Amino acid sequence: MNSMILHLASRAAVIALGALAVGILGGCSAGKADIVTTNPPITALTQAVAAGTGLQVVGLVGPGVDPHEYEASPEDVKKIGGASVVLRNGLGLDAFLDAPVKSSGQRNVVTVTEGVRVRSVVDAGGQREDDPHVWHDPTNDKIMVDNIVKALTTAYPDKASAFQKNGTAAQAKLDQVDAEIKQLIATIPAANRKMVTNHDAFGYFIDHFGLTFIGAVIPSVSTQGDASAKQIAELQDTIRREGVKAIFAESSVDPKVASQIARDTKVKIVADLYGDSLGKPGSGADTVDGMLLQNAKKIVEALK
Ligand SMILES: [Zn+2]
Repeated sequence: MNSMILHLASRAAVIALGALAVGILGGCSAGKADIVTTNPPITALTQAVAAGTGLQVVGLVGPGVDPHEYEASPEDVKKIGGASVVLRNGLGLDAFLDAPVKSSGQRNVVTVTEGVRVRSVVDAGGQREDDPHVWHDPTNDKIMVDNIVKALTTAYPDKASAFQKNGTAAQAKLDQVDAEIKQLIATIPAANRKMVTNHDAFGYFIDHFGLTFIGAVIPSVSTQGDASAKQIAELQDTIRREGVKAIFAESSVDPKVASQIARDTKVKIVADLYGDSLGKPGSGADTVDGMLLQNAKKIVEALK
């Protein structure tokens, strides 16, 4: 983004929106970062906890960017070195942080997924791997909020009560959306509650809300790698046999192969679920709870 435009935009936002300006800076390149975060869900949860405190939260991986392929820029390294605290997802998703943390001398790095329920999967090569997409289960998000409140309180003890109050409000919102999504999912006929996704990003959502995972176009919890012709043929057979209603691809991953499979098997494709990312500011999917609800609505619409 042009830094002059960004500067003017964020100044205007500061004047017009006060604390909301924190959100405008996420993923962009201007301004001092008090708190650095990695992927958009962590950024959004941290912005919710830090709201109204005047602290600048800067997410390195912007909306719509694939975190699996992300590499830190020299600008990122500066931000990482200058921040009071760096919050990461862990579970292999933000391994790009290791080198810049080391070279910048940053010592206060907190993994916010500590203590969440981790889904273990076997990848295409038969290796057991932790699924990093933990934020698709709202009960995990609530644990992450607790971890963020703790980390920010350690870095800024004078703002403890604001973090606590914001954290409690964010958790209440997550509970509310959890209940709302359960009601939505209940409207899908039981035989239709089957998910084929682009990469294996929705396992936590599927487990938590009682859906069934049929398969992924990229058979991995990462976006790297391609399915073989044999794997694609097998997935197409399964889609036909199971009477799958739709294939779900994501906003941040090219849905080319998924679209081809959808055409061949004559099922719908939903190409804009949020798997790794969140929506742009103002889209309603720029918060974790908003993103979960928008995904749920699209899933219900396609499977009903
Ligand atoms: Zn992913």
